[in-house]
Amino acid sequence: MADTTSTSLHCSFCGVEKSPQVPLIAGNEGRICEACVNLAHQVVNSWGHRRKSRSATPELRTPVAIKQHLDAYVVGQDAAKETLAVAVFNHYLRLQSREKQPFSPLQESVELEKANILLVGPSGTGKTLLVRSLALILGVPFAAADATALTQAGYVGDDVDSIIVRLLEAAGGDVQQAHWGIVYIDEVDKLAKRGGGSAAVRDISGEGVQQALLKLVEGTELRLPKSGRRREGGEELTVDTSNILFIVGGAFPGLEELVGSRVRPPQGGMGFLKPPAALTEALSVNTLMAALLPDDLQDFGLIPEFIGRFPIITFLKELDHATLVRILTEPRNALVKQYQKIFELQGVELDVTAAAVDFIATQALARHTGARGLRAVLEAALHQTMFTLPSTPGLARYVLDAPAAENGESALVVVSTPIEAPASLDPAALENFPAAPARQASF
Ligand code: ADP
Repeated sequence: MADTTSTSLHCSFCGVEKSPQVPLIAGNEGRICEACVNLAHQVVNSWGHRRKSRSATPELRTPVAIKQHLDAYVVGQDAAKETLAVAVFNHYLRLQSREKQPFSPLQESVELEKANILLVGPSGTGKTLLVRSLALILGVPFAAADATALTQAGYVGDDVDSIIVRLLEAAGGDVQQAHWGIVYIDEVDKLAKRGGGSAAVRDISGEGVQQALLKLVEGTELRLPKSGRRREGGEELTVDTSNILFIVGGAFPGLEELVGSRVRPPQGGMGFLKPPAALTEALSVNTLMAALLPDDLQDFGLIPEFIGRFPIITFLKELDHATLVRILTEPRNALVKQYQKIFELQGVELDVTAAAVDFIATQALARHTGARGLRAVLEAALHQTMFTLPSTPGLARYVLDAPAAENGESALVVVSTPIEAPASLDPAALENFPAAPARQASF
């Protein structure tokens, strides 16, 4: 039976009447129109933003959990991962305990000092990746800078405050979040002034930058422009750097010799006596770096106050062939997976054979640039294919292989297979395939 009473329905929020143009969503006791849903969505979003900025405290994970997470991104370097995990756990434990009980009697008696970290390791061994992954896992803002780009205030270049400006940007302008952040400064070894009468006297201004960084790392209040750039009359924010965790890294070339000269027993005074071969061989770079002491860093040219601000020192090992192979294929973001994704996005499959992976690792090892060399080799091998791929329809599968040639030397080869081709197609036959001949890249 038709309803004759006035049963027009209205939005319970704004009162608008239901019509074919204005449908309403019914709840248990009321109704809502689309405009009010949108408005409510905006309001709820703004709550989320405010809630996020209020709870700046990162979730505290155990060192074991931190290490497990790091394992997904960084291959090997277990000692560095463990040291970092413990240091970071203790750092945030200290900050959280301060927030929770700012006046506890224990804290009055025991002042927990901030322990910044120094990473020593050859270039391309994962120092930046480790710190970046750490910040990602902890969900704290992160900024990285290169020490060589920094200058003392008043000189041309980025002064050290620019790092904190970047951190504030990473924290979305939220000062509270920035206070929980991590700053990574790479290449601090370049700030060293080589003393000891060595001919290799480094950039003297490096010491000035060490001094400037010292203040920042110890804790200082910086007035920074809100918009990231200083403007006349622009709003300013005050960032206190005393709780920010600073991690610095560098390759420190020659440091192992300094350590070696300390740990090796003095040689015979005759000059022509060679040290026993077993002794020199036994002390590999990795063994020497494990014996590193702050004094060695001072001998290297860092100022004692600077070294003192980085009480936790850990080192990253030189990457060997087996680790490079794992880096190519294992991490969540492994290089081979990244290239496969690029091909997949274009509807084609990319297979990289075990021989090719082995070959790429060998080539990268010879370049002495750590894992950085991997991308360079892979990019060069696939460059030509990636150039023609988007304009070459009809190919379903590419294989990157490194077959052994007759002379015993192998080279990277890209073989493409057309759609509908039998799986066991002889790659040689592809030479005559007009649309896309088999391509070869050798190094
Ligand atoms: P560093 O800071 O020590 O010079 P990076 O962390 O910038 O080196 O590493 C360069 C690149 O090499 C990174 O992008 C990363 O993909 C890769 N890489 C280096 N070491 C590792 C590792 N141990 N595990 C996984 N990838 C690595």
